[in-house]
Amino acid sequence: MPDPHVSGLSVPELLELDRRHVWHPYGPMPGRQEPLVVESASGVRLRLAGTGTELIDGMSSWWSAIHGYNHPALNEAARDQLGRMSHVMFGGLTHEPAVRLAKRLVDMSPEGLEHVFLADSGSVSVEVAVKMCLQHWRSLGRPGKQRLLTWRGGYHGDTWQPMSVCDPEGGMHELWQGVLQRQVFADPPPVAYEESYADQLRGLIERHADELAAVIVEPVVQGAGGMRFHSPTYLRVLREACDAHDVLLVFDEIATGFGRTGALFSAEHAGVTPDVMCVGKALTGGYMTMAATLCTARVADGISRGEVPVLAHGPTFMGNPLAAAVACASIDLLLGQDWQTEVKRIETGLREGLAPAAELPGVRDVRVLGAIGVVQLDHEIDMAAATRAAVREGVWLRPFRDLVYTMPPYVTGDADLARITAAVCAAAREG
Ligand SMILES: *Cc1c(COP(=O)(O)O)cnc(C)c1O
Repeated sequence: MPDPHVSGLSVPELLELDRRHVWHPYGPMPGRQEPLVVESASGVRLRLAGTGTELIDGMSSWWSAIHGYNHPALNEAARDQLGRMSHVMFGGLTHEPAVRLAKRLVDMSPEGLEHVFLADSGSVSVEVAVKMCLQHWRSLGRPGKQRLLTWRGGYHGDTWQPMSVCDPEGGMHELWQGVLQRQVFADPPPVAYEESYADQLRGLIERHADELAAVIVEPVVQGAGGMRFHSPTYLRVLREACDAHDVLLVFDEIATGFGRTGALFSAEHAGVTPDVMCVGKALTGGYMTMAATLCTARVADGISRGEVPVLAHGPTFMGNPLAAAVACASIDLLLGQDWQTEVKRIETGLREGLAPAAELPGVRDVRVLGAIGVVQLDHEIDMAAATRAAVREGVWLRPFRDLVYTMPPYVTGDADLARITAAVCAAAREG
């Protein structure tokens, strides 16, 4: 056995061990593309090991680090909680960080969402949302209502139920067609409101009402399924059709929550309250993993009336105090500032900075909403070349499929934002 001691590794040694032993997201084993080694991160910058090169982070670590890295207030919250306890089980015990967090989430989310299930990742929060919906109908004596309806082009996570409502074509989970539960799919939502598409949604919900437990969608922005935007009016169409046909409505706000689209939650763009809402990603400001599933009194009440009146779900690290304390601090930080102005400022910077991309050969579309900027190509991107181009510009981006996009931290200054947009353009040109 080689010595498993791994402190003080050189960068080449670290990369070799990484390649041999460590899975990366959506990666092969052993690894084929060499990752960059990050030594530390502060503000909007990632510092690379070895060279000390600093990259401006255009990704907010998959849309989560909205306040930037190593933030004094979040560090303080973590340290303070660490001195009390980093974790205790949540079965039979409770604690202030979890209670405070649940109260904050109820207060800030659309009116009517009252109960909070703290989960340990976005995918698990979607599993819980689906379980809530299926169990609600089962408890009310309608066990046949167990399918889900969604629109194509979505992404809801990588565990089994979420995979079944991800885009079934061309997405990362296409391999599992035939194994996954077969859900009901509508076409991808058009950008602008179209009555004929609204009719398709209404028609599908009506036709499948007897077997549908819920409709689940990402409101206004479809994230990892293709970075597409759509009219908020469709959310009202879904709300009305779901109400008319006894179907629950789930909004997956894991990517869109906490201000990213210019509203605290995307549901606000339509003035709609879903029956169930998932949040994650930016919940802890990118510090640690935590997500939450919120539901209305009606959903909870349905579950409690069943033969099995409990929600049988309870992750070991449910309600983790450390994550909950940081989440509270992150929410306080967000709500304690004029975040709308910051997101607007970033939106303006993205519009200006990405406009030149529209003139580039191979670019199909440039779109911006809130602190989200997207350049869509007319071809599959050369990920390695595009990433290299961005890094050369001093920026970290993670392009995928035919997309180069950025979701910068809200604290990104104008000069750094200009460098991010320049890097997106460079990646689009060379990818
Ligand atoms: C990232 C994401 C998920 C999955 O969250 P994980 O924490 O990665 O499990 C689910 N839904 C949406 C919309 C997401 O963006």
